[in-house]
Amino acid sequence: MRFVFLGPPGTGKGSLAWLCEQRVGLRHISTGEMFRQEIAQRTPLGRRVQRYVMNGRLVPNALVVKVMVSRLAPEILAKGFVLDGFPRTRGQAAGLDRALATRRAPLDAAVYVDSPESLLVRRLTGRRVCSRCGANYHLRTMRPKRPGRCDHCGGRLIVRKDDGVDTIKKRLAIDRKAATPLLAYYQRRGILERVNGIGHIETVFVRLMRLFGQRGWLPPARAAQLLRVRLPAGRQGHDRAQNRRRN
Ligand code: AMP
Repeated sequence: MRFVFLGPPGTGKGSLAWLCEQRVGLRHISTGEMFRQEIAQRTPLGRRVQRYVMNGRLVPNALVVKVMVSRLAPEILAKGFVLDGFPRTRGQAAGLDRALATRRAPLDAAVYVDSPESLLVRRLTGRRVCSRCGANYHLRTMRPKRPGRCDHCGGRLIVRKDDGVDTIKKRLAIDRKAATPLLAYYQRRGILERVNGIGHIETVFVRLMRLFGQRGWLPPARAAQLLRVRLPAGRQGHDRAQNRRRN
């Protein structure tokens, strides 16, 4: 299974990709996370991409495609993967397709996780990330068990440097402009799928697994197993209300 998850910053595609790694066994590769690590380690690549990432601007296509393709090792192609935050432009999508075609490992789908902009700003301003392993949390909706500490590795939770309100607005505007041609590209390829991104991440994950089951990407028994919702108490009604407000 080979997927790209598309959608604006804050739509939850990173958390969904992480759940796909934990529960479905697909490798989660995030270009944003990769760049943040390179910047933190002050590598030559980190120095090249730093000014783009810190300002919320897109790293040039040629560089992103080269870095991403170099990470798609044969064992990752065989195991299956979810790319998160890549591709972000039509040019990147075409570059990825060319690289996968030469490896005879085409994408199964491009999954667009759809959320209204008001929700994205709220999500991004409340987002906290683990400084060690990159796991995502949220001040209101996904709190860690111990305040300020990651549930998985105990690392310190921090605000991402590009999650300030002005940079968030800039990132959303850049994404809006690039999204239309990108979605049109996958629509034409006949592999575009949409998932409603409103609600708790576990609710959205269930919608995604339903899609995986319907399309036959997962065996029916495995898909049914993954459909069990693991919402914390009190969230189900909240999610239904959010969806009603939207519709
Ligand atoms: P993200 O964590 O996906 O929001 O990415 C954080 C930042 O990394 C973005 O604002 C860009 O500066 C850079 N970045 C990540 N993925 C890409 C990409 N596919 N193309 C260009 N820049 C990217």
